Amino acid sequence: MMRLPPFTYLAPRTVGDALKYLGDAGPEAMLVAGGTDLYPNMKRRQFEPKTLVGLRGVRELRGVRGSERDGISLGSGTTLAAVAAHPTVAQHYPALATAAGLVSSPQLRNMGTIGGNVCVDTRCNYYNQSYAWRKAIGFCMKKDGDICLVAPGSPRCWAVSSSDTAPVLWSLGARVRLVGPDGERAVPMSALYRDDGIEYLAKRPDEIVIEITLPPADGWRSAYVKLRRRGSFDFPVLGVAVAARVEGDVVREARIVLGAVASLPREAAQAAAALRGERLTRETITRVADLAARPSKPLDNTDFSHPYRKNVTRAFVARALRRLAGLPDDEAPT
Ligand SMILES: Cc1cc2nc3c(=O)[nH]c(=O)nc-3n(C[C@H](O)[C@H](O)[C@H](O)COP(=O)(O)OP(=O)(O)OC[C@H]3O[C@@H](n4cnc5c(N)ncnc54)[C@H](O)[C@@H]3O)c2cc1C
Ligand code: SF4
Repeated sequence: MMRLPPFTYLAPRTVGDALKYLGDAGPEAMLVAGGTDLYPNMKRRQFEPKTLVGLRGVRELRGVRGSERDGISLGSGTTLAAVAAHPTVAQHYPALATAAGLVSSPQLRNMGTIGGNVCVDTRCNYYNQSYAWRKAIGFCMKKDGDICLVAPGSPRCWAVSSSDTAPVLWSLGARVRLVGPDGERAVPMSALYRDDGIEYLAKRPDEIVIEITLPPADGWRSAYVKLRRRGSFDFPVLGVAVAARVEGDVVREARIVLGAVASLPREAAQAAAALRGERLTRETITRVADLAARPSKPLDNTDFSHPYRKNVTRAFVARALRRLAGLPDDEAPT
């Protein structure tokens, strides 16, 4: 059995106290929300914080506010189950409800939060292992070692962005509100991530994600399709988020973002541009799906073979676009 190492747990009631505790404890402290990713990582000694600042008692971080007309805000401490079940999210931001509802298992969605999900660690077959396993293969540069075992000549880590909601929030044009010792700032989701398996967040460790805001839903349709081995619970090894503003039956704006194909969510900008001004016909869907598969360059470090994951991107983008068009999922493209 893997056990947690000893640590100090601090339980602030306000964001101000959380910031103070984090600042006082310094670099050896980490934030914990639901703990569904952090505690397993601590058991495997991937994270070794001496102090945890728990956000569960900070009520101001919880809840979904606003409307589809004005846009909504998701408190970072809102559970994934609450996000998935929220009527405004389900009706007007359906890709987000789908993605939140597909994260791991019901128990973990009742504990896991949307803030924890956007900050969740990157993953790799050589890293998400027990300490003894990692030691037996000599560790890797993401923790305790020097080289990358997937690409030994590489100066960087290629661990994979594995959040279900991150690509969806990016595709919906969400922004993240952060608060730190120097004050507050809001960044687009697209600016929250870095293409590095170790330093994957452009957020400082002493900054807290307060909320995630979504623009008005106004004419936008969205869909999310996920590949994983077990349908009951598993991290994505491919996630496809599509969002489009449709007027009549013509697409005016679109975003396509791929999850789990790189160390950050990967936008398929050329494919989205090809959708603008078009109707969602079968021909358009086939052409756009081909374009969207190009930036998908998975490595051999998660489940399934990487050539398969690359090939299936096209089919999954087509499926997501069919959902936007109201076409059946598995209709053969013409
Ligand atoms: C068996 C299993 C299956 C899983 N399957 C999936 C899956 O299919 N899809 C998926 O996306 N995830 C999956 N997860 C990971 C995890 O359950 C989710 O990502 C969850 O949303 C994490 O949220 P949390 O609140 O538990 O985060 P925590 O574990 O508490 O924290 C995760 C990270 O976020 C940081 N953090 C948390 N809140 C904040 C905040 N407000 N501000 C700044 N930093 C913060 C923490 O410091 C930590 O680094 C799985 C986990 C397990 C154990
Ligand atoms: S990509 Fe390389 S450095 Fe990163 S976790 Fe995997 S083996 Fe380690």
